[in-house]
Formats: sequence, structure tokens, C-alpha cells
Amino acid sequence: MLTQLRDIVDKVVSAHTLIDALDQLVSNTTLAMKTDCCSVYIADHQRQIYTLMATQGLNKSRRRISLRFDQGLVGLVGQRAEPLNVADARLHPRFKHVSGIGEESFRSFFGTPIIHQRQVLGVIVVQQRQQREFNESEESFLVTLAAQLAGILAHAKAQGMWFEQGNRLHLTGSAASSGVAVAKAWWDDTQPLLEHVAPASCLNIHAEQDRLTIAIDAAAKEFRRLRKRFDSDLQKETLAIFDLFSHLLNDPLLRQDLKTRIDGGDQAEWAVRQVVEAYSNRFSNMKDQYLKERARDIRELGQRLLYFLCDDEPNEQQWDEPIVLLTRELTAAMLATVPAGKLAAVVAQDGAANSHAAILSRALGIPAIMGVDFTPHTVHNNVVVVDGYRGDFLVNPNRHVLAEYRRLLREDDELEKIVEGDQQQLAVTKDQQRIMVHINAGLSADSHLAINKGIDGVGLYRTEVPFLLQRSFPSEEEQINQYRTILHTYPHQPVVMRTLDIGGDKPLPYLPIEEDNPFLGWRGIRFTLDHPEIFMIQVRAMLRASIGLNNMDILLPMISSINELDDAKAIIERAYADVAQTALAAGQQLHKPRIGIMIEVPSMLYQLHALVGRVDFLSVGSNDLTQYLLAVDRNNARVASVYDALHPAVLHALKHIVDSAEKYQLPVCVCGELAGDPVGALLLVGMGYRSLSMNARNVAKIKYILRHINSTDMTALAIQALQVDIADDVRQLTTVFIEQHQLGGFIRAGNK
Ligand code: PEP
Ligand code: MG
Repeated sequence: MLTQLRDIVDKVVSAHTLIDALDQLVSNTTLAMKTDCCSVYIADHQRQIYTLMATQGLNKSRRRISLRFDQGLVGLVGQRAEPLNVADARLHPRFKHVSGIGEESFRSFFGTPIIHQRQVLGVIVVQQRQQREFNESEESFLVTLAAQLAGILAHAKAQGMWFEQGNRLHLTGSAASSGVAVAKAWWDDTQPLLEHVAPASCLNIHAEQDRLTIAIDAAAKEFRRLRKRFDSDLQKETLAIFDLFSHLLNDPLLRQDLKTRIDGGDQAEWAVRQVVEAYSNRFSNMKDQYLKERARDIRELGQRLLYFLCDDEPNEQQWDEPIVLLTRELTAAMLATVPAGKLAAVVAQDGAANSHAAILSRALGIPAIMGVDFTPHTVHNNVVVVDGYRGDFLVNPNRHVLAEYRRLLREDDELEKIVEGDQQQLAVTKDQQRIMVHINAGLSADSHLAINKGIDGVGLYRTEVPFLLQRSFPSEEEQINQYRTILHTYPHQPVVMRTLDIGGDKPLPYLPIEEDNPFLGWRGIRFTLDHPEIFMIQVRAMLRASIGLNNMDILLPMISSINELDDAKAIIERAYADVAQTALAAGQQLHKPRIGIMIEVPSMLYQLHALVGRVDFLSVGSNDLTQYLLAVDRNNARVASVYDALHPAVLHALKHIVDSAEKYQLPVCVCGELAGDPVGALLLVGMGYRSLSMNARNVAKIKYILRHINSTDMTALAIQALQVDIADDVRQLTTVFIEQHQLGGFIRAGNK
């Protein structure tokens, strides 16, 4: 049986088209199972029908045979997502007679679904004239075959070989930046590629060195120009990528390596390829995600150098209309080279939602999907829909789908105008409950962002970003400058500075940590307590930066026990005494910061009482709290569907925290992604939270929603949500609630 199975699968795989593959499948299965008929029906989820694609035994005229998802025995197999074995199909209540295909002559029916990643892709059916049930070994043969086919069919579908009406395609990837776009797709294959550079030598070493120097200068100039162009649109944190490129370009080691290669007689392009690959391989072989991402940055830099080494006139592409940029791997420079206003969305074959480029597209408000398995030439120049809320990518959708997305797009535009028009008003619910809305900031604050006028402070300043971008620990003075800039931007508002939270998915490039379970390992406060010298310098820098501004609070990440808190506080006390004394000698006074902890490790849920008298405030990290409560890695795409902050267990934990905070009179804020999500914000306020901290991009939207709903209605919603057992039901409940308040445009189905 195994050999027969392998034979069939081999024939299917080696077929040139999907139709050939399915024809091979049905004819060989009929032979192998010695049956009278075998047919394959393929599901079209958009139209909710199965289409008979290949058959041996039925009469498949030119007419297309389709069955609705709820019709016939084939529909039943799909609905139940399980095999169906019937001795006489015609006696089954769900039997549907399809005229003209000659099905009358068959009595027995065995159908099994072809399922890939929980989705029914189709149904394979064997039939026989004789009235009998198929036996166990026949059943298991077909079920095994269907399981093996599933991966092959899913791949064919992703490659655009799927039959769905003409060249229509429905692909999916991970939603990396929300929003919708409808435009023509554009695949740029004019860029020189590193992997296409072949070994070549140069005749004139001096001239070659000059070419390289000119290319390096041109690239450096371009990075400065792009940085400037984005300066007004982005938070500085996202601009850091261009600084990183400039930094790498000036790296004496990298320059020396390039020079040495050319001195040895290599052509400049070949020298660039070898050096860049050597550097990037070093990073990509590392285990952790952050360092792997740096390999991409180095390759991107190499691509740009190649571009400037290319002697052809640069091909300045002009577009009349905005386009959807298709790329293998999205890079920051690529995003920047499409003129402002001409980039409707981005779809990348590779890439992770936490890459720099993904962060950049979010900050620019450009919808993006990553990890989409498309074939460029089948998509290039076709009209596509990018649904960055759900990760859907539709190529040549039918006019109804197109009209629906165009409507969504108009709604999105209108909403944005409404929301941004009054973003500077305070967040007060319809029944006058004041909600504090803070922002989460990174490398440094951007003082000219309009949003700054409408916020109540910085709820989370992640200090690890400058640590991650440097080659060694930043000095105390460097840190003071960083921290002072941000404290200075908000002189009259609180700025919550979190101490170093490295480890997990954020290891330092200059301090590699090898661990099997980094998220359960040496992370956050565990690392800094083991390195009191680093912790001490950071806290001193924070305190020194705050002199005269007096608007800083200190937040401790990843606290899992009271000893950790006590130990950290002891270090802060020492740093405080030290800095206060020096300040006093200089005639200045050091304000005492409030100290808070992140509630993100579940153990703290049961120790909230012990925090009384020990901390001044709490900040809930819903990202990690979800990860640790549900035992699901927040960065692992394979379990992404299990990671759900609306899981009832997470909601009950959040409710417990806010109730305890009130009981113990501890101020509390939520600074995880949930706070910036419309569904999450409503539930949190409904539970009793009065302080939320979120990405700057979400502030206007969340404030608008809060201003249009009564807090009492949110309370009622939260009470209902807390009685539900399944996350999807919570989502459904909240969606209906939002729609009833005419705010449905702020959420999209499937937006998780
Ligand atoms: C969190 O865990 O929710 C949080 C805000 O911290 P981070 O995302 O930086 O881990
Ligand atoms: Mg966290």
C-alpha cells in the first residue's frame, strides 16, 4: 500500500499543471483501489462551492459541475470535515442528483476531505456500482492519500496554479501593518541582486577603489536623504534603521575588508558580495531572532552598494497611480524609494512582523502583509487587494469583492479624517469619565509629532532600543543624553522609564546569550540584577537626566518575585542617595521618582497584596502576560493562532489586577498592545482601567472611540465578556457592541 501511495504522490508532484496533477490522481487511484470511479472536488471559499475538477468514471462534459458547500454528500464531507462511507448513496438524505454526469450507475460512496491547516481544500471521492461499504483498508488508503495531497494542493494554490475563476487568487500571510489597499501590483526586478554577482577581477585596482568609494558616498548620501524625508512622518525610533546603515557604512572593519578584497584584484561588485555575505552569514547563523534580523540589514546595505556601483543610468520609475509593492523581502530603503503618495501597500514573500521594515510600514500607516507565497509574474500588474487587518491578499478579485473593499477604503479614509480632526481633545467617555491616554515610546520622543499635544504622558519608554543598536553598553553620559531628550519633550507630564528589558527576543548583539528557552530565561530584571553594575549605571543616568525636570517614574520589567523587587529597589535607593548628594553639592535638588513594576509574569497575580507599600504604581504588560498565561511564544508563527489576549483567562487576570489595584489603592495602567486595540480598550475601560498606554498611531482612534461611548455601557460589555468561555465569542460580543455604536469601521472581522 505504501508503494502505491508513494507512486501516486510522485506522479501528482511531477505533473506540470494542477489539472494534469488531478487527472493523474484520479486515474491512478481508480487503478490502485480497483474501484469504478474516483473524483476530486476543489473548494472555492469565496463562492462557497465545490467544483468537480477531475474524474475517472463520471461523465465530465465541458459544463462546469459545481455543488454548494451545503449540497450533496460532497458538501456533507466538507461540512463535517470527516470521511463518509455510504453503501448506497442514493438512499442517503443528503444525496443530490446532478444530471448528466452518469452518477446513477454508482451506489457505494466513500468521500474524504483534503484538509490543510484546518481548512478544507477539497474532497476526494471513490464510488462503485456495487452496493457495499468500503472496507477499513480502503478507507485508510484514501484518508492517507488525502493527507499527503493537502500540502501539495496548498502549495499549488499559493503558487497561483489554483483554478479559481480565471487567474483569481486568494493568498494569505501575516498581517504586519493594518489597513486596506486596492491598486495594481508592482514587482521590481531591475535591482541588481547580490546573489547574481559572479566572481570577477579588476584591471585597475585604483580605479576600482575609487568606484567603491563613490558608491559608498552615494549610499551614505541616500541614507541621509531618506532619513530626512521621513523625519517629519515617523517616530525617531523607526528612523534608527537609516542611522544603522550609515553606521555600518562607516565601520572601519567593513571598509577595510572591502579594500583588502579589491587590493587582491577583485572587482568591486564581487568584493561587496563576498564581504557582505561573510558578515551576514555570521548573523544569520545565530539562533536568536534579533541577530538574524541584523543579517537582513547587512544584505540590504550590500544591495544598495551594488545599486550605486551599477554603471547604468538609474532607472527612476514613475507611477501615475499608487501601487502595491511586491517584494521578496521588504527593506526600509525599498519602502523609501517609492515616492510618498505612490505606495498603497506592501506584500513580501519573506519577513517577520517584528522586522524593522514592518515597524516602519506601521509607523507610515502603509498596509503590509509578510510571508505570502506568491509567484511574481502571475501577480505583477494585476489589480490586487491587500487586507492588512487580516493578512489577505487577493489577486484579480471579482467586482463584488472589489466594490466591497473600495467601500471599506472610503470608510477608512473618512474615519481617519474624523478621528484626526479632534485628536487633541481629552479622552473623556460620553458620560464624562476621564481616561488617561499615554504613548509607548522607544529610542527617543519626537517633539514635533502633533499627537504629543493630545496625550497625557509617556506610559512606557522602552530603554533597550539604544542598547540594542550599539556595539557595546552605552556609557552613563550617552544614556543621560538619551533620557534627558525624552524627559525634556514632556516637561509637564509623567514619563515612565522602564529599566533594561533585554533577553527573550531582544538579546544584545555584544552579549550573546545562548538559551533553550530565552523567554523563560535570563530576561529583564533577572539580567540586570545579575549585573548590578549595568543596572546601577542605567538608574544613575535616569536620575541624573531627571534633575530639574522632575517628571520621571521608574518601571521594573519581568518581576516574578518580591525578592527581585526588594533587591532592585535597594540598588535604586543607593543610586538615588549618590546622585542626590552630588546634585545637592551643585545646588540642585533631585526629585524622588515613583517606582512601579510591570505585571506581566503570572506569579505576580497572586502577590499583588505584597506590593502595598513597596511600589507606587503598576503597569500591566498584556503582551507578556498573554504569552506566559497561555504558554505560547509571542513570536512563533506556528502558534500565532493560540496567542490571544482576549482569551478568557487573560481577561480574568486583567480584571483581577484592576480590582486589586483599586482595593490596595495602587495606580494602574495597561501598556501592552491590547490597550491600543479598539476591542481591548473598550474591555479594559469596562473592567475599570482608567489609564492606557499605546503606540502613537492608535491614540487618535482610541480617544475617538472612548469619547463616543458611555463608560457604563463598557462596564456592561465587560461583565458580559467575563462570562464567556471562548475568546472568539468575546471578540464577537465586542464587535457587535462596537457596531451597535456605529463605530464598526474601527474594527475588521478577523482582526486579532
Ligand atoms: C508587554 O509585555 O506587554 C510590554 C508592554 O512589554 P514588551 O512588549 O516590551 O515586552
Ligand atoms: Mg513585556
